[in-house]
Amino acid sequence: MNIHPILEESKADVVIIGAGAAGLMAARELGKAGKKVTILEARDRIGGRIWPLSKDEFGYDAQAGAEYVHGEARLAKYLMKEAGMTLIQTQGDMWNSYGGDVAINNERIPNQDELHGKLRELKGDMPIAEFIEKYFPGEKYISLRNSIFGIVEGYDAADPMRASTFSLRDEWLGGQDWLQYRLKEGYGAMLKFLESECRKNGTEIELNKIVREVVIHNGKTNVRTADGNNYEAEKVIVTVPLPILADIKFTPAIPEKLEAARKIGYGGVIKILLKFKSRWWINAFGKDFGEMDFIFSNEEIRTWWTQYPDLIPVLTGWLAGPKSQEFLHSSDEEIIEAGIGSLAKIFKVDNEYVKKELVHAKVANWPADLYAKGAYSYWTPESEKAQEELLKPVDNRIFFAGEAFDRGGEASTVEGALASGREAAKKILNSSLTD
Ligand SMILES: Cc1cc2nc3c(=O)[nH]c(=O)nc-3n(C[C@H](O)[C@H](O)[C@H](O)COP(=O)(O)OP(=O)(O)OC[C@H]3O[C@@H](n4cnc5c(N)ncnc54)[C@H](O)[C@@H]3O)c2cc1C
Repeated sequence: MNIHPILEESKADVVIIGAGAAGLMAARELGKAGKKVTILEARDRIGGRIWPLSKDEFGYDAQAGAEYVHGEARLAKYLMKEAGMTLIQTQGDMWNSYGGDVAINNERIPNQDELHGKLRELKGDMPIAEFIEKYFPGEKYISLRNSIFGIVEGYDAADPMRASTFSLRDEWLGGQDWLQYRLKEGYGAMLKFLESECRKNGTEIELNKIVREVVIHNGKTNVRTADGNNYEAEKVIVTVPLPILADIKFTPAIPEKLEAARKIGYGGVIKILLKFKSRWWINAFGKDFGEMDFIFSNEEIRTWWTQYPDLIPVLTGWLAGPKSQEFLHSSDEEIIEAGIGSLAKIFKVDNEYVKKELVHAKVANWPADLYAKGAYSYWTPESEKAQEELLKPVDNRIFFAGEAFDRGGEASTVEGALASGREAAKKILNSSLTD
C-alpha cells in the first residue's frame, strides 16, 4: 500500500518511534548489542514527557514535565549515578487550604487506619469511587472522601470512577513515600546522558519526524513519516503515549490493541511555573510558609509546590485528572490568570499583588499537547488484561513500550518507561532478527 510518495528510503535493524525515556532506553540496549537503530521523534527535541526548561528561565533546572523520583526507581537511580547526577530528598511542610481554613497537615488522609483496614479486606477489584462510596458513606467521612478523591485526581491524574482500588492499595500500603526525591540537574540531564550513550553506539536520532504509518509487507516492516520518508526495519518499537496509538495507521490493522489501550486509564496534567521577584508568600496573613513544600487547595489550580529547601522564588502549580480537561482549549494567558487567581485566594492577597511580583511564567498544557494528549497512564480494573494484549508483538515485528506498559509496578513514571523500553529491547535481542 502506498499512501505517500516516498522521497527517501533508509534501513535499520530496529526503528524506534519516540525519543522519550522508553525509546532512548530501548535504543541504548539495542545499540550496545550492536544493532543498527534509528529513532524517529515527532518533536524538535528529545525527552517527550520529560521536558527540561532552560536554566536561564527560572534560575534552576526547571522541568515542565516529570520532576520527582518516586518509589524504588532502581533503573532510574542507576542511570542517574552513571550520569553523575544528584538526588535531593524532598522536605518541608505540607499545607492544606480549604475554604479559607489553612493549616499544616503532614498526614494526608484522615481516618487512615480504618481506610487501610478496609483496603486490606477487599477481595475483588473495583473503581476507587465505588469502594469509597460503599465503605465510607455519610457525613462522618466527608474529609476522608475529599482527601482520597483529591489524591486520586491530583497525584495519580486519574478519574476516581475508573481508577483501580487494588492498584491504589498497593501504592498506599506499599510503604513507599508518595514523593521522595527531585533531581538537582532535572530529568532532562538523565535523558541527555542516555542520548549521548545512544549516539556513541551509532544510533541515529531524527527529530521532526512524525510517524504516520507502520506497514508489515512481504516480511519487512516499513515506517513512513509525514514528510514522505520511508524507513525499512526488521523490527519496530512503538513508544508513543497510549492515546497516540490511534493516530498512527497500522497495516495490518490493530483493533484489539487500540481497544486494549482504551481500557487502561490515561489522565491529564496542567503544570504552571511562576517565577517571582521574591518569595512573597512566606509570611502571608501572619503564617509561616517559609518551609512550605506543598500546599493543597480546592481553588481552580489546586496544588502548588516550592523548590524547598532551595529558596528559589518559583511556585509550581498543578491541576490533574478530569479537571485538567476543562482547560483543554484555554490559552496559556488564561491558565496563568487562573493560577494567579488561585494563589491570591490561597495566600489571601489580591490578584494585582501577585501580578506585580510575577516576572516569568510557563504553562505546560499536556492534555492539549499533540504528541502526548495527556500526562500519564493509571491502572483500572481492566488494565492487567489490556496490558497483556498490548505486550504481544504484532507478527513478531512490531513491539510496544512506554510508561503504560511496565509490568514491574512502576507504570506511569519515568522508571516505568525506562523499564519497559529495556524489556522491549530484550525481547528483540532474544528473538532472531531474521525470523
Ligand atoms: C506534567 C507531568 C509530570 C510528571 N511527573 C512525573 C514525575 O514527577 N515522576 C515520574 O516518574 N514521572 C512523571 N511523569 C510521567 C513521565 O514523564 C512519563 O511516564 C515518562 O516520561 C513517559 O516516557 P515514555 O517514553 O513512555 O513516553 P514519552 O516521553 O511520551 O515518549 C514518547 C515519544 O513519542 C513521540 N511521539 C508521539 N507521537 C509520535 C509520532 N507520531 N511520531 C514520532 N514520534 C511520536 C513523543 O513526542 C515522545 O517524545 C510526569 C508526566 C507529566 C506530563
